[in-house]
Amino acid sequence: MNTKYVFVTGGVASSLGKGIVAASTAKLLQARGLRVTIQKFDPYINIDPGTLNPYEHGECYVTEDGAETDLDLGHYERFLDIYTSKANNVTTGKIYNTVITKEREGAYLGKTVQIVPHITDEIKRRMLLLGRTGQYDVVITEVGGTVGDMESQPFVEAIRQLQWEMPEEDLICIHLTLVPYLAAAKELKTKPTQHSVQTLQQAGVHPDIIVCRTEKELSSELRRKMALFCNVKPGNVIQSIDAPTIYHVPFLMHEEGLDAKVCDLLGFKDLPEPDLSALRKFCDDLEHPLHEVNIALVGKYVELQDAYKSILESFVHAGVANRTKVNVIYVHSEFLNEENVQEKLGSMDGVLVAPGFGERGLEGKVVAVRYARTRGVPFFGICLGMQMCVVEFARDVLGWEDAASTEVNAYTTHPVINLMEDQKSTTIKGGTMRLGAYECQLQEGSLAHRIYGRDLIRERHRHRYEFNGEFLPQFEAAGMKATGRNPQTGLVEIVEIPEHPFFIGTQFHPEYKSTALHPQPIFVEFVKAAVALKEGR
Ligand code: GLN
Repeated sequence: MNTKYVFVTGGVASSLGKGIVAASTAKLLQARGLRVTIQKFDPYINIDPGTLNPYEHGECYVTEDGAETDLDLGHYERFLDIYTSKANNVTTGKIYNTVITKEREGAYLGKTVQIVPHITDEIKRRMLLLGRTGQYDVVITEVGGTVGDMESQPFVEAIRQLQWEMPEEDLICIHLTLVPYLAAAKELKTKPTQHSVQTLQQAGVHPDIIVCRTEKELSSELRRKMALFCNVKPGNVIQSIDAPTIYHVPFLMHEEGLDAKVCDLLGFKDLPEPDLSALRKFCDDLEHPLHEVNIALVGKYVELQDAYKSILESFVHAGVANRTKVNVIYVHSEFLNEENVQEKLGSMDGVLVAPGFGERGLEGKVVAVRYARTRGVPFFGICLGMQMCVVEFARDVLGWEDAASTEVNAYTTHPVINLMEDQKSTTIKGGTMRLGAYECQLQEGSLAHRIYGRDLIRERHRHRYEFNGEFLPQFEAAGMKATGRNPQTGLVEIVEIPEHPFFIGTQFHPEYKSTALHPQPIFVEFVKAAVALKEGR
């Protein structure tokens, strides 16, 4: 059987949860035994989101193979328990880069290079690339942005051409819209959906299924009306009603018959019903916690929910593993200081200091580390958070008052965090950090070793600076141990304070590998330590 393609487009508004609907569709097909992958096409011109500030586009997600990608890839991995890769996130920038490079190489000699066919051909090639590996029965492609945007047009045109070229049962298009409820009129409104589908149809793409985000149940009458005006089969308008959590969405979509319709349209016959038992148990446990803890997330992008997406989701997974409701309380590092730290962190059962870049909010992070270290509050520092726990220890325990990361202070006499050697010659900013998964050897008897229960782990990275090994003997003598190192280079990946009830900093980002069914072990133990602190109080 040919590989089948499902395209997911969106209209009316952004932030409707297209990524979750796409991931839920993928989950349902996977749970029926199909081999599924999912990819994201983003219309912006950056080659990847690695150079974007989280305020612009939320978290930058990092794959095993070191791609800096859209945060939706995180949802795909968390839902499907698969690894995505560089090939799973394509941007307008990547498409143009390829075409322009080919033009310079002479690939189109004599021809005018145009959006149609050259750009659209390259988009189509990338859309079909994963399918051509033969590894998948279904490739789901989520197209970022909303139809009608100028920058989405080449992508929509590529889908139109594929819809025209391919056998009908090999490709379907799901269009996600919003059906707003007008409180004053006490009515759900279908017009925005009609307009959005019209826009799609004007571009020549006809949706097979319309998924409507809604706060209230859609009556059969409304569904029929939208089906008629949008020219889709009655029954192919389905609702995506607000769910208690994103992990409930696959169940809601299944109740609406989404997966059955998709299978039917793509010609998959006699597939078993989806086996969602593991996810069902996860959701049940999520809804029925036995404990509750407050964990401070200290960072500088706290105004934006999406900036720390993978960390938040890791806490959901780790909470379920501990049957604990984890309230993540954002603490703005820019406004945290010695005077207000007690007030801000006093009721916290754990403190996580977040990753980040640059100087803003850095001293607040040091204050948070000091509080957790000296009060015996469970502490977890990730990347910049780990680097700041090293700085804090150097200043307070080793007495090196000006200890710093050279990221913000090039003239410190104690550069305890230092630019990595191979970064020194790098001037290009995009895609040049130490990225993706590397091995880390754990020291026997350490907290990390107990947590993972293994000698060798692989975790993902995104950084330019590292622990300065020159100072390691002094740190270890004073009680901060390097318990995880890269076996090839010796780079310090994990620091711990064994005297403390739970104090760990990781240069890597464990949050990228936590999934609903495989919670990340450091998060699990961190939450456990927070529960222990709370119950012992
Ligand atoms: N800015 C630090 C570095 O580049 C930390 C990066 C991060 O937290 N992801 O090393």
